[in-house]
Amino acid sequence: MTTPKVSDIVGIINIIAPFGHAEEWDNVGLQVGNSAGPAGKIMVALDAGPAAVDAAVANKCQLLLTHHPLIFTPLKKIALSDPIGRILALAIRHDLAVVSLHTNYDVAEGGVNDLLAGRLGVQSCEPLKIGAMEELVKLSVFVPKGHEERVLDALFQFSGFIGNYRDCSFRTSGIGTFKPLEGAKPFLGEVGKREHAEENRLEVLLRRTDLTAAVNALRKVHPYEEPAFDLYPLLNQGKARGLGRIGVLSEAVTLEHFAATVKERLCLSGMRFVGDAGHKVKKVALCGGSGASLLRDASYKGADVLITGDVKYHEAREAEALGLALIDAGHFATERLMVCGVADRLKIELGKKKFEAEIVTFDGEREPFRYI
Ligand SMILES: [Zn+2]
Repeated sequence: MTTPKVSDIVGIINIIAPFGHAEEWDNVGLQVGNSAGPAGKIMVALDAGPAAVDAAVANKCQLLLTHHPLIFTPLKKIALSDPIGRILALAIRHDLAVVSLHTNYDVAEGGVNDLLAGRLGVQSCEPLKIGAMEELVKLSVFVPKGHEERVLDALFQFSGFIGNYRDCSFRTSGIGTFKPLEGAKPFLGEVGKREHAEENRLEVLLRRTDLTAAVNALRKVHPYEEPAFDLYPLLNQGKARGLGRIGVLSEAVTLEHFAATVKERLCLSGMRFVGDAGHKVKKVALCGGSGASLLRDASYKGADVLITGDVKYHEAREAEALGLALIDAGHFATERLMVCGVADRLKIELGKKKFEAEIVTFDGEREPFRYI
């Protein structure tokens, strides 16, 4: 077991929620800190505010992982009279790195919206607003006989998914030829002599986003000094990716009953809803944070209700006009689930990579709004 570096954790987050899937306007990834520094103790929080940074420093953490980015709009100066300037100075002074995963975690499988759906009992979820289809690549690699399983084990960390099946591959056997040149250290054969080797050609499907990690893993276990492999772009598409989720409840309930369930399961002090309290709901759309812009998508897809936060007056009026019920459960409560979600997943991924780090969650975060 080894202590991960900040860059190792960034690499793991890129598996959990690829940074390339973030919205264009977003600012995800390393916000401040040394990516080569150690990350033996990691705190997870929703906001990169002074409370979380203070807690991370007090707990002697080396990395703070947050949902909301610390730096959202470009900075022209770092002034200590400004809250962000003070946070940056504090983080730098205490060698604390801050990494944020935001809209990439919103769209990620198992991300904010899947966590919210799970908590609220919304099943069979699909993205509410499809942003992109997953790009797929075919990798075929030539492996000397007897080394196939080791290579496949490495590749199957990233590949081989087809629907509900894992570890999918195909192989054909044949003879490979090569002549090692001066300076080569061949696994088989001799320098200056053409070698004929019994090889298997292994083929697997890869998500485009996993390509670099998969090729690195392949190079680590392949016995040849220069592994031979081909990459093919495919017209086949993988899973749909997008904002929000739409799914169904196990049975239809009244809007009032469902709103009360949401309030209880998200531990809310208060909440607002729009629509007829006695109206039955079964098909549910949801988007953690600020998702009222998805009203029309929810209505178009036949949702009975949309759950989100930060709902404005005119959005509530628009929902009424569309005949769509709306539950405003608040930005904080609909995203706060990410803290345990990220911490749990990180522990699993660290274990897989034989990294040892202590993961703590910041429990001092509170909803900023008070109710009277
Ligand atoms: Zn948010």
